[in-house]
Amino acid sequence: MTRDDARSLDAADPLRGFRDRFHLPDGVIYLDGNSLGALPHATRDAQADAVTRQWGDQLIGSWNSPNGDGMGWIEAPARIGAAIAPLIGAAANEVIVTDSVSVNLFKAIAAAAALNPGRFELLTETGNFPTDLYVANGAASVIAGLTVRAVAPEAVEDAIGPDTAILLLTHVHYKSGTRRDMAAMTARAQAAGALVVWDLSHSAGAVPLALSREDVDFAVGCGYKFLNGGPGAPSFLYAAARHHAAMRSPLQGWFGHAAPFAFDDAYEPAPGMTRMLCGTPPMLSLLALESGVATFAGTDMGAVFAKSSALFDLFADQVASRCPELTLVSPRDAACRGSQISFSHPHAYEICQAMIAADVVGDFRAPDILRFGLTPLYTGFEDLWIAADRLADILDSGRWRDARYAVKAKVT
Ligand SMILES: *Cc1c(COP(=O)(O)O)cnc(C)c1O
Repeated sequence: MTRDDARSLDAADPLRGFRDRFHLPDGVIYLDGNSLGALPHATRDAQADAVTRQWGDQLIGSWNSPNGDGMGWIEAPARIGAAIAPLIGAAANEVIVTDSVSVNLFKAIAAAAALNPGRFELLTETGNFPTDLYVANGAASVIAGLTVRAVAPEAVEDAIGPDTAILLLTHVHYKSGTRRDMAAMTARAQAAGALVVWDLSHSAGAVPLALSREDVDFAVGCGYKFLNGGPGAPSFLYAAARHHAAMRSPLQGWFGHAAPFAFDDAYEPAPGMTRMLCGTPPMLSLLALESGVATFAGTDMGAVFAKSSALFDLFADQVASRCPELTLVSPRDAACRGSQISFSHPHAYEICQAMIAADVVGDFRAPDILRFGLTPLYTGFEDLWIAADRLADILDSGRWRDARYAVKAKVT
């Protein structure tokens, strides 16, 4: 594979025009869109409109949509949820945008626990993204009877049993990029009488999903990673329509009330996903997420993942032939991975810093993972060819050994 070959792949890429939707700093190859998606140009304009016209001029009137166009602030959580729905294979009314992934996990766990009375075990895996374990244990500390059992990833399936109330799993692992078989795990858990809660933080906008078809009970996912919603973007919460009537949020706030502006003393949950809202949503952040999700308009997750898969193959092949010191930890089989490529190396941190200094931005996950996000909307084949070339150069020259690359930052 020469640089010209990579260029030809870009020229033939049906998604090549999508890159123009993003602001990317000159000369930088950004391979960290799985941690913070790049800024869409449309977001700048939409945020300017949200601040100047909607907040500045229309003030409180922006909550409503006087002309009934559904573009009021009050409609934003459900409206943006409906926009995310096709990306995750859900119905428009099964998704709402609100709060962080961590908070939505708590709500989903509590709702699922109440829907499965008489069972008290939340089953999850060790090495899961830490917030999932922290939230699960926090939920168990306030939900009567609920206990958390975390087993090794490969032991999860056999650990599902008659006590399992909830199976909480992350679909694509944040470190290795390994993807679980959602349909099979969901079916297995449900056959044993459990409900499933999936964390889709590294899946939404990364891989094709079919939540409705696969009968998933609950899911949460991240707004600021592949969905390009901006730093700290709110997350989404999905619940299968069959649970809507009976599910309850443990955080009963007025935004989840059937009639918030009736100001009743008694809580009456709103119909559908709206009951999972809690308090006043961060509107500027919601609107930034709306622009981020809109960057997928005109394609679908099949096309996006097909390109991700080709990007992976190019990079994996280049690194395998030119950087033998690195060990690939992501699965080679596309069906078993997300949209990232991870390698292990005892000095992954220093190598990552040296790459950033060479204008290739990836990230490091302790203790030894060098991780690169593949974001097909704005990453090209030539980018990855150059990235592999610089990686080989950094390893061959030993440049990563420079003391300045060992200085640890707060965020890695
Ligand atoms: C990024 C990520 C989160 C983020 O949670 P926040 O509460 O939004 O910070 C949660 N779970 C997984 C698996 C993630 O990768």
